[in-house]
Amino acid sequence: MITVMRHLLVILGDQLNHDSAVFDGFDAAFDRVWMAEVREESVRIPVSRPRIVMFLAAMRHFRDELRAKGRTVDYVELAEAAPSLEAALLVAVRKLSPQRVIFVTPGEWGVRERLRVALEQVGQAFEERADRHFLCSTSRFAEHAKGRKQLRMEFFYREMRRAQGVLIDADGEPERGRWNFDVENRASFGRGGPGTLLDGAPIAFTPDALTQQVIAEVHATFAEHVGELRDFDWPVTREQSLHALQDFIAKRLESFGEYQDAMWTEEPWLFHSRLSAALNLKLLDPREVITAAEQAYRAGRVPLAAAEGFIRQILGWREYVRGIYWLHMPGYLQRNALTASEPLPSFYWTGDTDMHCLRQCIEQTLRFGYAHHIQRLMVTGLFTLLLGVDPRRVHEWYLSVYVDAVEWVELPNTLGMSQYADGGVMASKPYVATGRYIQKMSNYCDGCRYDPAVSVGDSACPFTTLYWDFLLRHQASLRANPRMGLQLRNLARLDATTRARISKQAETLRCSLRPRS
Ligand code: FAD
Ligand code: SF4
Repeated sequence: MITVMRHLLVILGDQLNHDSAVFDGFDAAFDRVWMAEVREESVRIPVSRPRIVMFLAAMRHFRDELRAKGRTVDYVELAEAAPSLEAALLVAVRKLSPQRVIFVTPGEWGVRERLRVALEQVGQAFEERADRHFLCSTSRFAEHAKGRKQLRMEFFYREMRRAQGVLIDADGEPERGRWNFDVENRASFGRGGPGTLLDGAPIAFTPDALTQQVIAEVHATFAEHVGELRDFDWPVTREQSLHALQDFIAKRLESFGEYQDAMWTEEPWLFHSRLSAALNLKLLDPREVITAAEQAYRAGRVPLAAAEGFIRQILGWREYVRGIYWLHMPGYLQRNALTASEPLPSFYWTGDTDMHCLRQCIEQTLRFGYAHHIQRLMVTGLFTLLLGVDPRRVHEWYLSVYVDAVEWVELPNTLGMSQYADGGVMASKPYVATGRYIQKMSNYCDGCRYDPAVSVGDSACPFTTLYWDFLLRHQASLRANPRMGLQLRNLARLDATTRARISKQAETLRCSLRPRS
């Protein structure tokens, strides 16, 4: 029983690590933990039900683990309906009068601001601690960025490999003399599909009683939100997350690198790890994930290209996007370099479209809260980029629908990498392609009424029409980018009549996708 209240430790839904900096110096006799499920946070942008369940189920399990360790936890359940996170916290502060509130930097710039302002306004002493879950601190990233005109993930990644000694040989050089196996990592499956390459389905975690209770509450409280829950099988505890990691290393890592860009009808997982949510909620530490992949390579169980390809995603991309986020926020959220202003097509919330690739990726997203990187980048993201959708609306969709979505990682991927709205901070050129790219990397086009090779007419693939239209609309600004040279030279080969027909068909398509008033 606490008599004098010393520290009130705030733990957010994506901070579920027992070794968090928030616990440094914790004394059960004087300190207590505070956690809250805030309905408003799932309503401001209507969050999909799988993502809500992911966060709430993981939080409740974590709360119970803390209590089992003898820690006092004040936990505000959804049913108690706090109007906002900071309002709920101030209620606790008034009630408990802690000497100090302690929190680790949140994963969202806005949440950090709101917490700080609210505590300052009531004169509450507080301490913000750096998040040591990440391998690169925000100040170290700022140091890396200093004086560079253009940031590139590859150079950052090499620095990280050296600093962490990951896949580095005895002479301090990259393992087998190569930093990067990207060229080997772009295979598609060919006509036969993944077939026997797949070693069964990934390990599934049947919801226990606590998760089932959350599922029932989310059904009742967020009845109007999108997303299905009947297949919910994500790891929601550290123990389950460790099993998921082992399962991936044993069954799928071997083929991960080679097929990481490939897609296939009714195959949502392929060789992907499904670890992003466990990592982002901090149930897993990136160091242990990287070590497990490196050990599998050193034990001769997976090829170097597979281990390196996977490690690059975590030690490279994941740390890099976080660095970009904190370097450029809050202005980053407002960026719209291509002045895109179309609304998000309504089928993004239902999957109801005759474009087979989009239907597959969106239906799977709503069903599982998951799509792999190329589905996000080169199907759902590519379509909104080509259509010219307002990047803020695209950002809201990605933040809503994926179980792994947290703003620090979602925003640079969406606004930067996928929509080119940051004008080239994340990507050196817009990721644009015709439907032929999707045809090459999947079998989606086989089941589609459109033809990816055709740009105008009834059978024209909307991606292909919109690709040429995108180049026509933005050619003046893209000309300055040497990496767009080939694509713009191909555009120059189109005669005036074809250009006019493409523009007209693209405009008709755009009109048909706007909501009717
Ligand atoms: P795998 O393919 O198995 O990759 C392994 C791990 O590498 C992932 O778990 C993830 O932690 C990391 N990783 C891979 N690519 C990236 C990347 N580009 N940025 C950061 N980490 C990466 N990832 C999120 O974690 N949350 C998001 O909200 C998110 N939004 C995205 C939005 C768009 C438009 C795009 C193009 C990508 C987004 N990503 C996001 C990155 C990537 O798509 C997911 O991390 C990945 O699909 C998660 O599935 P997985 O765990 O099976 O990953
Ligand atoms: Fe998608 Fe076009 Fe292929 Fe249809 S033809 S699946 S719309 S890329």
